[in-house]
Amino acid sequence: MGCSCKSGMSETEIRERHVLIELPHNLERTRRIKKGLSTSIAIDGCIVEDIIHLWRNGIITTGCCCGHNGYFPRMVNVNPESVDKMYSMGYEQFHNDYTFKI
Ligand SMILES: [Zn+2]
Ligand SMILES: [Zn+2]
Repeated sequence: MGCSCKSGMSETEIRERHVLIELPHNLERTRRIKKGLSTSIAIDGCIVEDIIHLWRNGIITTGCCCGHNGYFPRMVNVNPESVDKMYSMGYEQFHNDYTFKI
């Protein structure tokens, strides 16, 4: 995942880089509909392509951040069923318990 954010961006600048995108038909979309939430979500522009790529591979994402040039950890949250697939795609789990599954 690349990140083209400049360093030290403000909250507003970070928000301006968000892209609103429609969730694919997956469990996360279903969960959000049940909760009365919008089916479109705001994603950091830098990683939109990466997230769409994950969706095409059946990964169910529940949150993500490009890291904004090291300001936050760069990460993707996925549902427990997607963890093994993420490993096989070369992602590492960023949690101190290796066996952790939400
Ligand atoms: Zn970025
Ligand atoms: Zn972010």
